[in-house]
Amino acid sequence: MSTTPAESLVVVVGSANADLLARTAVHPAPGETVLGRDLAVLPGGKGANQAVAAARLGARVAFVGAVGDDEFAQAATSGLRDAGVDLARLVVVPGSTGVAVVTVAADGENSIVVVPGANAAVDAGLVGRHADLLADAAVVVLQGEIPRDGIEEAARLAGGRVVVNLAPVIDVDPGVLRQADPLVVNEHEAHAALALLTPGDDAGPDLADEEVVAGLRRAGVRSVVLTRGAQGALVAAEEVDGGVVAVPAPRVEAVDTTGAGDAFVGALAGELARGSGLVDAARLAARVGAFAVRGAGAQPSYPREGDELP
Ligand code: ADP
Repeated sequence: MSTTPAESLVVVVGSANADLLARTAVHPAPGETVLGRDLAVLPGGKGANQAVAAARLGARVAFVGAVGDDEFAQAATSGLRDAGVDLARLVVVPGSTGVAVVTVAADGENSIVVVPGANAAVDAGLVGRHADLLADAAVVVLQGEIPRDGIEEAARLAGGRVVVNLAPVIDVDPGVLRQADPLVVNEHEAHAALALLTPGDDAGPDLADEEVVAGLRRAGVRSVVLTRGAQGALVAAEEVDGGVVAVPAPRVEAVDTTGAGDAFVGALAGELARGSGLVDAARLAARVGAFAVRGAGAQPSYPREGDELP
């Protein structure tokens, strides 16, 4: 496959958040106040995480998204800047930046409040202003943290391959899921995607991963990558012998799985833009996901070009 610079562009249309992370001994009960041990302000949001993962591995990445005119905008975009992501299309809208308020208790359990803030501005109108960029992209990457009509418009304007990560699950046009090449989902999201594509068919919850993936393909999805934590991923596509192939994740000591799915998606998109086939791209992505679980946080745990992958 040819890889002229214009063809190898990855465009991520998605969310950027500031994650406010407080450590406590226990979570506060409703109405209760507890003391936190420390506070960290980290860059997050699924779109930004995925863009950073791809860019750190050497892909040329542009980000379409929005931040607010508050002090959290800098935190939300610091990782994108460091990774060299093109932010010429990032807009600043009045109001707050997307923020996730996370409390992590001593038992490792998280409770999270997400305020979409400026991410809610990434709608069809905003996305439509970037038709030129989307038409030029080798790969357009979408997730569920922006308005549904923004996702649908980006898919419509994409000139190349569309990678859809249905996370979190939102009620998007089933046509976008069918266009996905691949649709990247974890086990929970895979069942939800199948329910969106085959309404009324309630065989869902009991299906094995292989059956869900086959069901998604039968429902018209071009290709599917189902991520399954330490077990790696299943890849289903026309070009795969026998229809489905299991890609293992390397065995690592998991410290923090936050953002592992986003590391996987970013790495996959970058590798596809480089011209690799889907199975090879998923093999690399599984190693990048495993790298990410060895370190704390999302973006800080992602590998850079030249880092040794597990
Ligand atoms: P999500 O966080 O979206 O549910 P997964 O948990 O499936 O996503 O993780 C995404 C990828 O990260 C996996 O496919 C795998 O490559 C890697 N990964 C996640 N957890 C582990 C683990 N415990 N050991 C090794 N790799 C892991």
